[in-house]
Amino acid sequence: MAEHTATVLVVDDTESNIDILLNLLSEYEVLVALDGPSALEILEKQRPDVILLDIMMPGMDGYEICQTIKEREQWKEIPVLFITARTDEASILKGFEVGGSDYVTKPFRSKELLARVRNLLNYKQALDRLRYIAVTDELTGASNRRSFFARGIEMFAQAQQSQRPLSALMLDLDRFKAINDTFGHEAGDISLKAFVERVKEQLGPDDLFGRLGGEEFAIVPANRTFDGAIHMAEAIRRTVEAKKIEVKGDIIPLTVSIGIAFADSKTESFDALLSVADGQLYAAKHDQRNCIHFLGQSGKTQKPDGQTGFRKRR
Ligand code: GH3
Ligand code: MG
Ligand code: MG
Repeated sequence: MAEHTATVLVVDDTESNIDILLNLLSEYEVLVALDGPSALEILEKQRPDVILLDIMMPGMDGYEICQTIKEREQWKEIPVLFITARTDEASILKGFEVGGSDYVTKPFRSKELLARVRNLLNYKQALDRLRYIAVTDELTGASNRRSFFARGIEMFAQAQQSQRPLSALMLDLDRFKAINDTFGHEAGDISLKAFVERVKEQLGPDDLFGRLGGEEFAIVPANRTFDGAIHMAEAIRRTVEAKKIEVKGDIIPLTVSIGIAFADSKTESFDALLSVADGQLYAAKHDQRNCIHFLGQSGKTQKPDGQTGFRKRR
């Protein structure tokens, strides 16, 4: 995760307050909203690291805005700091009850406010880092097994509910043990990382891509037809074969075999979908490797040179 300038969202209906805060927060990128609805609109497009929230505003007040933010999965971890003229204990307690992380009363002391903002930013940064580690495979940067399954199960349920097509690709690097034995374990690691980069080039932002273990990966494409999934697999297979990986003068002969499964209304679970894909991967390994297998209605097999063969397999 690259270091970036933190972004602060300031929500206040008084322009003079905003001017003071803009001055004070000059080391950060600052987004400004003059009321609740425009604050939520900004949040739909941008992801600030902390929110400074006035309480008394016409229309939606600060408490309501905070509550709305805390109810939304993608927003709830953004810390909210209330800045308000209300100094009574009940108002302050309510700020914490609706999910606020900190509370400063007006007129505020500049250095103190800045220290509190920094504090929340440090907290947010640590949280982001932990979240990243929790869902990411350390070596390659692909999703780890746990987060792959968590998200895959969600995608499966959504697709079944809306009767949209869903497919799963199982990928396994070919003769990877031999690559380690021939070029060394470090070259193996470099190849795994290069493989993940090449796969990512072929993916959209919503496609799910995880490392299930060792040199075995899986993809669940988002919003793609079955033909689209086959096309994706072929693009990956081809890119991995074509783009050379050079380690200390050696060219690593990396290829990948892919098994694809398509869900229909009879597919019982995400696990069941993956196990069909795994069966097809097994078939690809027993064919010639560096190829794609899927069980279409006709038992159609995609061959690596782009030719389409027909073969009955049950
Ligand atoms: P196949 O074409 O049938 O898949 O053969 P294979 O050699 O790829 O399969 P096998 O399962 O026998 O071997 C997988 C190898 O992957 C063995 C293991 O040492 C290696 N491997 C697993 N994880 C890592 C890793 O993180 N780094 C490196 N360098 N190698 C790994
Ligand atoms: Mg392998
Ligand atoms: Mg394997």
